[in-house]
Amino acid sequence: MTREALRSTAIPAVDAAARRYVWAAAGVAALGTVWCVAFLAGGVGTEAFAYPFVPVGGLITGAAVRHMLRDNDLDPVARRFWRTMFVSIAAITVGYGWLAVDMLTHAVQAHTRTMPLPAAGCVAIGFGVAIWAVGRVPVVTTGGVEWWRMLLDRTIAFLGCAAVLWYAGLAPMLSAREPWSRQAMVLVGLAFLVAVGAATKVSYVAGGPVDRVAIRLIAASGGVTAGIVAVLAVRFGFAASVPAQAIVMPLTPVMATLGVAAQWRANAGPRRDAARVGVLLPYLAVAAVDVPLIAVAFGAPLRWPVRVVLIAAVAVTALVTVRQYIAFRENARLLRNTRVQEERLQYEVSHDGLTGLANRALFRGRLTTALARTGHASVLLVDLDDFKTVNDLLGHGVGDRLLVAVAQLLRAEVGDDGLPVRVGGDEFAVLITGSADAEELAARLLAALNQPISEHRLLVQASIGIADAVPGATADSVLRDADVAMYTAKQRGKAGFVRYVDGMGEPVLAHMQLGGELRRALDEDELRVVYQPIVRLADLRVVGVEALVRWHHPVRGVVAPAEFIPAAERTGLIVPLGRFVLRETCRQAAAWLKEFGPDALHEAGLNVSARQLHDPDFVSDVTAALAGSGLPCERLVLEVTESAVLRGQQVSRTLYELDRMGIRLALDDFGTGESSLSLLRAFPASVVKLDKSFVDGIEIDDGQPAAADARQAVARAVIQLADALGLATVAEGVESAEQAAVLRELGYTVGQGYHLARPMTAESVSTLLARQQSLAAADH
Ligand code: C2E
Ligand code: MG
Ligand code: MG
Repeated sequence: MTREALRSTAIPAVDAAARRYVWAAAGVAALGTVWCVAFLAGGVGTEAFAYPFVPVGGLITGAAVRHMLRDNDLDPVARRFWRTMFVSIAAITVGYGWLAVDMLTHAVQAHTRTMPLPAAGCVAIGFGVAIWAVGRVPVVTTGGVEWWRMLLDRTIAFLGCAAVLWYAGLAPMLSAREPWSRQAMVLVGLAFLVAVGAATKVSYVAGGPVDRVAIRLIAASGGVTAGIVAVLAVRFGFAASVPAQAIVMPLTPVMATLGVAAQWRANAGPRRDAARVGVLLPYLAVAAVDVPLIAVAFGAPLRWPVRVVLIAAVAVTALVTVRQYIAFRENARLLRNTRVQEERLQYEVSHDGLTGLANRALFRGRLTTALARTGHASVLLVDLDDFKTVNDLLGHGVGDRLLVAVAQLLRAEVGDDGLPVRVGGDEFAVLITGSADAEELAARLLAALNQPISEHRLLVQASIGIADAVPGATADSVLRDADVAMYTAKQRGKAGFVRYVDGMGEPVLAHMQLGGELRRALDEDELRVVYQPIVRLADLRVVGVEALVRWHHPVRGVVAPAEFIPAAERTGLIVPLGRFVLRETCRQAAAWLKEFGPDALHEAGLNVSARQLHDPDFVSDVTAALAGSGLPCERLVLEVTESAVLRGQQVSRTLYELDRMGIRLALDDFGTGESSLSLLRAFPASVVKLDKSFVDGIEIDDGQPAAADARQAVARAVIQLADALGLATVAEGVESAEQAAVLRELGYTVGQGYHLARPMTAESVSTLLARQQSLAAADH
């Protein structure tokens, strides 16, 4: 059983025990009442009989406390409180017991006797202990100001109650015709102290360990008895002592026992909810001091006791003022906090968390406002080139720091000319609403990006699209134009800026649509593979082919790979596309092998993109294509570019695995990358394909001899290196007999190019191979 369940079954038992004590105390009080009525009406007994009711009631309350203290589950703080209260109840009971014995033993002169000093002392000690017990109950405050406010509230309440006690009780008792004994007055005063102390505390104990209802009942027992006794005393003088002792004062044990029962029940049951912390207390106190003042206003004599009340009223007013001032200052502080928080929130929703630049939302808002106000605005859209590579190779931490560095650079360069923005990812923007020149700013940004930035000294470049608001432009249209311009800048070879002009959108949009159309092309079989022969320069014999993909578009006709391969890479469609080319090439190469024998065509090559090398299924795709076609693996060449090879560990692992399988790897477009030479050592290449750019113009010795010399030097270096490393070479883009001659002279034995053979269909290759075979047969 859970603790809660245990508690709920404990409640009925607790209720039964507690109820017995409450009924017993109430019974004593009722007996006192019955006797008192009988005495006043018919003189039953003597006055002295009025006195035992209080101590008997006290015994019952004490027994109830002891019984409750046996509960092991009682919270230590509550236990301390009730133990102290037990001492208090015991002392008061002893005091009144003494008084009762004194009265009963001097029954004859009872109406003239005052309370014996030891008895009064015991009661006074009892009240003192009760005050102390209440004082030690912990309060719930959040500290600081809260604590001071509570102190003030309680002081105000105390002064208010004390003023009432003075005015209605002690002062009349002092000036009564038959003066009351000092003891009686001290006791009434102490009972009031217990009442006020507990009452002002109860508002601050919340749902604490000492039950709120219990404290309230303790307060009430002190307050009610002292109050009624005082009123009776003032009204009836000494004659009131019999009803006071027999009817009013036995109520004290009843209420105290009810308090014990409440605590008892609270131990067994769930905690009470925290109450609203003393809000009304000071106002009640102010109202209380006002009572005597109003009485004076309505004609009560302004005697010296009232002056005391007046002083109390002034003190209360002063304290209330201080309290209100504290509350006012606290409110002002809270208000200030709220405002600061609001501002921070405002900042957070309009700024980018990483770079602190304005975000897309703020950017759009400002752009819309500017368009509405002046209709004039320019937008620079700045997109970092190849940021994804940085992220992939160096990790997101470095990527993030790079973005922060770019943001700093942007802030410094833009200055007061515009609003720098991070639109998202690696895309930034600048909004110009003033007179700054957008193109000049773009040039400045590109120049600044020429220096390596961030603590990693990275060189990043950006493509910038510029768009100006035309009449009737909306934020959306300006952003779209900037996007198109930026896209165009990227297409024109990155690291540049392009200003949007009318009509620029269509080709870009067409390009963007390509991605969507490619999917369809794959499904509808619109892709074809053509083969470009790779030829031996010495005798022009075909030794291999390179597979090149073509798209037979239903409307646009044959589309070259340069147009759609980038879109396929961006969308990931390159993976299924590449798989198709792979299967087709293997199938075709196997067919040629079967038809023309092993000597006709040594190898078939095809192009592989970086994205495909990243695909975890790539190696199994290759294995499956080879197995499916029956092509021996050494007859397959996979062409990869230098930049694709440099794409991290996963790619590197894939390449080594392919190499181990016996598949040959070719470095395509060799010499255009930045680290060609070192790559040769790090990468398991078998073939190097000298890029067309080094073949172009290699033969010219009159026009630009210096340029031709430089190209020859590169071509010579590449062949020497390849020879030294035992790699085969292919010179790409051979367009003339002169080029072929120079290449042969340099040591190249194999070439590929329009001069040697154009890309052609598989049937054309078959025809070529057949002719070649018959020529060879004729030679023999
Ligand atoms: P690449 O791998 O360097 O292929 C050679 C490109 O140069 C082919 O262009 C070819 O037609 C062209 N070419 C050959 N000889 C000459 C010449 O003498 N003069 C000139 N001007 N060009 C010549 P193509 O077919 O347009 O392919 C362009 C690029 O597209 C390829 O360059 C390759 O990187 C890529 N590509 C083609 N097919 C595929 C494919 O199936 N998969 C992948 N991933 N990329 C492919
Ligand atoms: Mg190639
Ligand atoms: Mg190439």
